[in-house]
Amino acid sequence: MKKQLPLFIFLILGLCFIGSTACQNNQTGINSTNQNQTVSNGKQNPSPTVSSKTNLKVTQEFWKQQLDKANEKRDQPTGERPPGLNVMVELCCGVPKQSKRLQEMVDAGYVQPLDFADLAEKRAKGELVELPLATETYLVDFEEKVTEDEFSSFSFEERTKPLQPDSPKFAFLKKLADDFDGEKYDLNNPKDRKQMRIRLLRMINPEAKKVIEEVADSYQKKFNRPLKISDMVRSMDYQIDLNKTNANSFKVMGKDSRPPHTSGYAFDIARKHLTAEEQNFIIQKLAEMENNGKLDGLIEYGARYVFHVFVYQDGKPPKME
Ligand SMILES: [Zn+2]
Repeated sequence: MKKQLPLFIFLILGLCFIGSTACQNNQTGINSTNQNQTVSNGKQNPSPTVSSKTNLKVTQEFWKQQLDKANEKRDQPTGERPPGLNVMVELCCGVPKQSKRLQEMVDAGYVQPLDFADLAEKRAKGELVELPLATETYLVDFEEKVTEDEFSSFSFEERTKPLQPDSPKFAFLKKLADDFDGEKYDLNNPKDRKQMRIRLLRMINPEAKKVIEEVADSYQKKFNRPLKISDMVRSMDYQIDLNKTNANSFKVMGKDSRPPHTSGYAFDIARKHLTAEEQNFIIQKLAEMENNGKLDGLIEYGARYVFHVFVYQDGKPPKME
């Protein structure tokens, strides 16, 4: 990993020149396994390679190919409110139901991840699973920024503190760094820390993953393009960071805050590049699943507009008075 880093940086810079979108993607989204497969032998791997064991080893070429396919220029208007956009009533009404479900989860013993070490712990326990960067039917493309900072611990009492090397939180991160699904990362290397953060944010509850796959399969069948997923799980400290830059993000006020993305059951579908027909298709699919109790779908507007989805694992949305 370390030896390949200069070449990796070179590749990133190269892509950054292509355009700002590609640049943003590479600031936040390449799986280190890509470089190993595409760079280590000194030549590009032309075919999509997917590990049979975990499905996580995706080549950079395949991810880029899927991204290009998703972003392909449409001959119809796209964006926040393209003419003909038909928003069904199911996609209204904010996140109170989702926060209520998260409260029910917390009451039943669920622990919201406060920092990246907590995410590492949830990964180790199998509570959350990592999504591959790209499959035939979807790809992950982060919209948010991820830092290279040293890992820290967070609590509402003490706020953000440097991680002590003898702490259990440090141990979780170190263990993961030593063997991150076969990859090794160096906690002292800023680029490696960023990669770890990206991969930890690419996790989701296994049941929610199935919902992503179902929505993506139906979209891909209809439009022959992969669905773009932009956000999955978040730790509380990451959510607090988002509050500073994203006015639309769920505001963390304190211990009792229940931002849906800390549940592991929430994800976002990017829609900036989609036509009204494509968005209407996704709206209908989400509304249908919502009416079956499987999820709560929302359409978001403003600076960072997406479809936001929260999955109800038991198929029973919480009752609102
Ligand atoms: Zn969301």
